[in-house]
Amino acid sequence: MEKQGSYVSNIRRKSFSPTVIVIGSGFAGLAAAHALKNASFKVVVLESRDRIGGRICTDFSFGFPVDLGASWLHGVCEENPLAPLIGRLGLPLYRTSGDDSVLYDHDLESYALFDTNGHQVPQELVQNIGEVFETILKETDKIRKENSEDMSIAKAIAIVLERNPHLRQEGLAHDVLQWYLCRMEGWFATDAETISLQSWDKEVLLPGGHGLMVRGYRPVINTLAKGIDIRLRHRVTQVVRYNNSVEVMVESGKTFVADAAVVTVPVGVLKANSITFEPRLPDWKEEAIRDLSVGTENKIALHFERVFWPNVEFIGVVSSTTYGCSYFLNLHKATGYPVLVYMPAGQLAHDLEKLSDEAAAKFAFSQLQKILPDACEPIQYLVSHWGTDESSLGSYTYDGVGKSRDLFEKLRIPVDNLFFAGEATCIKYTGTVHGAFSTGLRAAEECRMRVLERYGDLRKLERTFHPVTADEAASVSVPLLISRL
Ligand SMILES: Cc1cc2nc3c(=O)[nH]c(=O)nc-3n(C[C@H](O)[C@H](O)[C@H](O)COP(=O)(O)OP(=O)(O)OC[C@H]3O[C@@H](n4cnc5c(N)ncnc54)[C@H](O)[C@@H]3O)c2cc1C
Repeated sequence: MEKQGSYVSNIRRKSFSPTVIVIGSGFAGLAAAHALKNASFKVVVLESRDRIGGRICTDFSFGFPVDLGASWLHGVCEENPLAPLIGRLGLPLYRTSGDDSVLYDHDLESYALFDTNGHQVPQELVQNIGEVFETILKETDKIRKENSEDMSIAKAIAIVLERNPHLRQEGLAHDVLQWYLCRMEGWFATDAETISLQSWDKEVLLPGGHGLMVRGYRPVINTLAKGIDIRLRHRVTQVVRYNNSVEVMVESGKTFVADAAVVTVPVGVLKANSITFEPRLPDWKEEAIRDLSVGTENKIALHFERVFWPNVEFIGVVSSTTYGCSYFLNLHKATGYPVLVYMPAGQLAHDLEKLSDEAAAKFAFSQLQKILPDACEPIQYLVSHWGTDESSLGSYTYDGVGKSRDLFEKLRIPVDNLFFAGEATCIKYTGTVHGAFSTGLRAAEECRMRVLERYGDLRKLERTFHPVTADEAASVSVPLLISRL
């Protein structure tokens, strides 16, 4: 599909292999590429980085897998679009919470919270404030109903506390409440001042709780990538659509031509206009790109010689502001390796990205020292930069204040022979791996239909180019391997 005069179109007609260019090799891109290849398309994937996976980034430099991007399967159940693939690969999951936890992916009993003087917060207080937090969130629903105009969840909470002084907290209880809010900010990867009151609870959570991929997400990505023509270090700079073809230019000047293209780059990259579309994308598409909100969450993984921390899944530090709160995922519980993962989100994540990796790791360690003064220094560290990495420019989308949920759908809708996929095009499961995966399959099917229609008799062609599936054996269901709970 590399351009060489009219060669491509001649070949195409003779061999009758529809061609497609997939931009990006994250979950959405690889799902689309895999499915279109199964449907007998000639596929090439153009990837800007020197690795595949996108926001799946399983690092092995500690000598074992550590996910610096996604690490949970949200919704450990058969309905999860990724469950058949994960089940068939025999990959173990470590469930960190059941359904309906106020802390999203963690149950209360899996936490140990500390104040900044290193004193553990009594579990009863943590439990009580968890219930207060749930009550406050329920009360914000009244504010939502009273106001047709959107506001931030932070503002709604302030109104609730003003109206219900008995829900206000003082001292340590206040700090614990801030910590709950900080966890909410972590889930959305942004500060409470920017989360929409109207839409914050509109995402669909699959049942089954949340499971950590014990061996990392890499094996799933590798499976999807098998046999696909992927060109690494091919940063796309321009996409030109013609009547019956698409021409895609990469940084080096090389050009690729195909019947259609599937665009799966993160919305942060689209926002930065680092890819030029010719002719311009329609106004409604440009507006969607402009108005979608992208948050930042990072991971700072600290590898220690030995475990010296409490035997819980999550260690939290409470503080009088959400900015001052923090939490560490104890990977030792799930994987047996002595690693703590510090996860800043929102403004704190942005601020830490301005530091060197060494300084960021030191900062994370200083948070740990607040509660465990005798903590020994890490022997290795890893730091992610999802907010500033030019191939992501953000971690995942969230519902911004005053922004309609239609934006996700508008980003998805195809434009001529350009199809769009990626977590930000998934209205139901925004910001997730399984969401990204399912949008890749959907875009592949839309692309297949459109391209084959153009070639004429769809029914006849369907015998050769069968409908897209995630895998030939997707119908074989193997139970997920789950530990804990
Ligand atoms: C820190 C963090 C934690 C997360 N935790 C979870 C979790 O636990 N569970 C969960 O379900 N989800 C989680 N997510 C979200 C999840 O990772 C994403 O929703 C999902 O991986 C996105 O997949 P995608 O294919 O849409 O995009 P990406 O994976 O970002 O793929 C897009 C690809 O496009 C490439 N690209 C960019 N620009 C260009 C260009 N110009 N030319 C060519 N290629 C380009 C990128 O390099 C990338 O490979 C997390 C994300 C982050 C960052």
